[in-house]
Amino acid sequence: MNDNSAKNAIPEDNNTSGFTEPFEAIDIASVALASANVGIWIMDPISGKFLPSERTRELFGFSTKEDMSFEDAMLKVVEKYRKIALEAIDNAFKKQHALYIEFPIVAIPDHKQRWLSVTGGFSSPNVGNSYFSGIIMDVTEQKQNDLRRSKFIGMVSHELKTPLTALKAYVQMLSNWAKKQKDSFTIGALSKVDTQVRKMLNMINSLLNLSGAEAGKIHLKKEEFRLDVLINEVVEETLFITGGHHIVTVPCDPVSINADREKIEQVLINLLSNAAKYSDKTAEIEVGYVLHDTCVEVSVKDHGLGIAPENIQKLFLPHYRVESKETEKIAGFGIGLYLCAEIINRHHGKIRVESEPGKGSTFKFTLPL
Ligand code: ADP
Repeated sequence: MNDNSAKNAIPEDNNTSGFTEPFEAIDIASVALASANVGIWIMDPISGKFLPSERTRELFGFSTKEDMSFEDAMLKVVEKYRKIALEAIDNAFKKQHALYIEFPIVAIPDHKQRWLSVTGGFSSPNVGNSYFSGIIMDVTEQKQNDLRRSKFIGMVSHELKTPLTALKAYVQMLSNWAKKQKDSFTIGALSKVDTQVRKMLNMINSLLNLSGAEAGKIHLKKEEFRLDVLINEVVEETLFITGGHHIVTVPCDPVSINADREKIEQVLINLLSNAAKYSDKTAEIEVGYVLHDTCVEVSVKDHGLGIAPENIQKLFLPHYRVESKETEKIAGFGIGLYLCAEIINRHHGKIRVESEPGKGSTFKFTLPL
């Protein structure tokens, strides 16, 4: 008998599974969960009763003999993240969505901060009663690597921004000089350089904001400014960078808001450049806002590719890109919408999208007045 035939040999006790004990007798879920060191939890959707496994209790810093209620667990979550975590769980529970969250906890006995990731959702009704359940694991090491990476990106982009800003100023000076000399070749060439420099500055600003967002540090420098004026500026900038698209600014009553002007500018640039990127050059893009009692709602509408309903939920996650035949040739990092959501959330606003594949998308965000 060679090695392979030994591996495939059927044990004499007629156990055809190839396992030490009959396959049916193995609790596959428990064996796999124990090996992967993940905890499990179940919540009854009617009574709200929460049942954590031993490993789940351990991950939250409770001994295997101690009881742990849902509230006990949430009290271990670092305060800054508690509200966000509770909202995400509540949302997934009420709307029966998939749940995916990460948060830091500080658990006794070592008082060290650890990151946990929780994944879950409603089980299929074919598996008996439908429970809200999922798994939980320690992702501290992965998170520390992510933080190191984003710190590095932050440092590099900061260093790149300074010379590029100087370059932009010199291009501007040269192009003023060329205009005085009526040197049309130099004017044309410098305008192309200017476009590329602005594109790079936008990318660098996105990377800088990304590293801030990933470190949980988006600092807002709030000031009072006219939203209508900013929108007009951003439309001009987008036309300059993308070229060729037809962007219509819907006439709106002037409004002043108190927000971080530079960051809201970044949100508008991201939404408008996406609208241009994911639609045909001939299709119109509309941008405008409506005033409500307590907030202003800005919308960017395109008549482009649109987004399938199953992808809409994931759009605002970091590094997510829709994979399709149409999008595979369009370049991007998948961070623009994540940043938009982070910036808008930090302003206590909301961002959402309405979309139909093949017809177009409307991205809307609110800012408090
Ligand atoms: P990027 O455009 O760099 O990939 P984003 O975070 O800005 O990253 O967008 C994430 C994904 O959402 C994109 O890859 C694209 O598939 C989809 N998307 C964003 N905006 C639009 C839009 N206006 N129309 C269609 N799809 C869009």
